[in-house]
Amino acid sequence: MVNFYDLSLLELKQFLVGHGKEKFRAEQLFRWVYQKGVTDFSQMTNISQDFREEIKNILDFKLPKVVHQADSVDGTRKFLMAVDGGKNIESVLIPNEDRLTLCVSSEVGCAMGCQFCFTAEMGLMRRLNVSEIVGQFLNAQKSLNGTKRITNIVFMGMGEPLDNVDNVTKAIEILHEQVGIGLSKKRITVSTSGIVPQIHRVAKVGARLAVSLNATTNEIRDKVMPINRKYNLEKLLEACKQYYLESKDMITFEYVLLKGINDSIDDAHRIVQLTKNIPSKINLIPFNEHPESGFVRPSQHEVNKFQKTLMNAGKHVLVRRTMGRDIYAACGQLRSEMEKHPQKMSV
Ligand code: SAH
Ligand code: SF4
Repeated sequence: MVNFYDLSLLELKQFLVGHGKEKFRAEQLFRWVYQKGVTDFSQMTNISQDFREEIKNILDFKLPKVVHQADSVDGTRKFLMAVDGGKNIESVLIPNEDRLTLCVSSEVGCAMGCQFCFTAEMGLMRRLNVSEIVGQFLNAQKSLNGTKRITNIVFMGMGEPLDNVDNVTKAIEILHEQVGIGLSKKRITVSTSGIVPQIHRVAKVGARLAVSLNATTNEIRDKVMPINRKYNLEKLLEACKQYYLESKDMITFEYVLLKGINDSIDDAHRIVQLTKNIPSKINLIPFNEHPESGFVRPSQHEVNKFQKTLMNAGKHVLVRRTMGRDIYAACGQLRSEMEKHPQKMSV
């Protein structure tokens, strides 16, 4: 059996041709499944009985199973989904004015070891396959019962998307497919800690790029983000420039504010210097605390001062509102909750 959601349209065509079928059937199947939500072959009325009988023995529609769903008072909704191997991943739906953004995971855990990140403590358990990435979107969309549509996707959940770049870019192609969901690639953002050699893949697939900068000197970045020891700030910013040259898309620099570590006014000035030749905006994320992290969130006053310094230098800068804190869905708080609080989960 092959999982339908693992296949791009092109791969489905090749798969069908390999089984002696016409390739236009692939488009029919994409429409039924992604546009009409039909996975029961008996309901696919424009497909011949013979074809349906044969196809159901070679294709299945397995998705991650939603094992828990939690709604925050602020409208954020978190999903815990079970994937093969007894592991769980998390996705978060975030409403924001006219947008409805889904934050998806790319891996179970993460190998990057960033000091401030809760997911890092899990280590990397495994990379998600394509159907598990696309499946997060389908499950979340289904939970809305046709009342709303997801408008944006950000790869800012668990995992480092560029450590799983083949599957992430293939999932983006599937989500974008015109005879399927048809989501604009400009509404899909891939966030990376800085796996420099893979950044060009984001430009190639046509998605937007977010880079977790999080420090302004190699000395501090080496400490809080070990990936910096391999690809330092100079290399990272050079790759960002290349991304811009290829895509002509503005980059988002994310900057987690850690009290006393990277939140000085000198840091703000250095951000301006580092990003000055890169069309970009800055997203400040006041640190979201989690048990035993050892880091502290700066006060609102300190955050405002930092933001002001950047604004006065002409940078476009936003402070990311903390969403879903009551359900443990904020940035950097994701970790399969089942492991940490087994007694709290209801399945
Ligand atoms: N691995 C990717 C995407 C997932 S992390 C990356 O690192 O970019 C998504 C964002 O959450 C990153 O910008 C990361 O720096 C930020 N983050 C991680 N832990 C955090 C925490 N405890 N508080 C606030 N932001 C955090
Ligand atoms: Fe991984 Fe991103 Fe967390 Fe770093 S911040 S450990 S790259 S998920």
